[in-house]
Amino acid sequence: MAEFLCFGSLNIDTTYRVAHFVRPGETLAASEVQTFCGGKGLNQSIALAKAGAKVYHAGRIGTDGVFLLEALEAANVDTQFVTVSPHEKTGHAVIQNTPDGENCILLFGGANRCVTKAQIDRVLDRFASGDMLVLQNEINEIPYLIRAAKKRGLRVAFTPAPMNEEVPRYPLEETDYILLNETEAAALADAGCGNEPDADKLAAGLCEKYPEVRFVLTLGAAGALYLHRGARIFQPAFPVKAVDTTAAGDTFAGFFLQSVAAGEETRRALETAAKAAAICVTRSGAASAVPTREELEQMRF
Ligand code: ADP
Repeated sequence: MAEFLCFGSLNIDTTYRVAHFVRPGETLAASEVQTFCGGKGLNQSIALAKAGAKVYHAGRIGTDGVFLLEALEAANVDTQFVTVSPHEKTGHAVIQNTPDGENCILLFGGANRCVTKAQIDRVLDRFASGDMLVLQNEINEIPYLIRAAKKRGLRVAFTPAPMNEEVPRYPLEETDYILLNETEAAALADAGCGNEPDADKLAAGLCEKYPEVRFVLTLGAAGALYLHRGARIFQPAFPVKAVDTTAAGDTFAGFFLQSVAAGEETRRALETAAKAAAICVTRSGAASAVPTREELEQMRF
């Protein structure tokens, strides 16, 4: 059975409830503070594990982030490849939430940006052809990771989030799967769709630029589109009352990739992923909102 290696970010997210965003020179009292486990890497590892995959997380934290390992382990994610460095700070986000539902985020990459080629080689040596490497864009050395994994025969799945100007320069033609939303697709496909991204134009742009890659383009409440060469499969979203869409894309990615690796056909993997993401958006929170496969099987849509 194929194993997953999710090499990705681990973050401490601290949210502050404030009357308004702090202004230049102002000292503002927050009325509430909460700390959450975060990072797209952590979310996708937990989503993969909850979907039923054997998943190893690799990454870096400082000693201030050891509780993140406990959260991963509680979800059955193997953490033996996470480096705990006493000289680095764990990646963290300071988030201000206002009463009208807006937020602003200050992000410090910290240990997430200290990944080394030696660490990558050491970890990848433990995986074999047929295993799958899952990546997001919150750590450094992504191009090296893609190439080193392909050299060893691993399949590579990449989520280009957060999107930045470096992503189009990555060796993305070597990846097997790219999972992305419309905003990310517009940036990657140079589709020039203006303010109204058109899914058909985005799909055509992506396939033209990366003809070998399998794409999963998620369209929020409008569903998702799978693209590979000439083939297109549309998966509608399941109608639910959404309360918080955080981690919807990561849930979709985790369940889709686990299902594909378990040999499910693409159409069925998309349906499973859409069901899991629909459950996720009915709950608040990130990794904690991801359902387990048992919960998904019990749910009637
Ligand atoms: P991201 O969170 O990465 O921006 P999307 O917003 O595209 O990703 O959502 C990913 C998937 O989650 C969608 O393809 C869909 O299946 C599901 N989803 C998102 N929003 C809703 C919603 N309001 N109702 C039902 N499913 C949703």
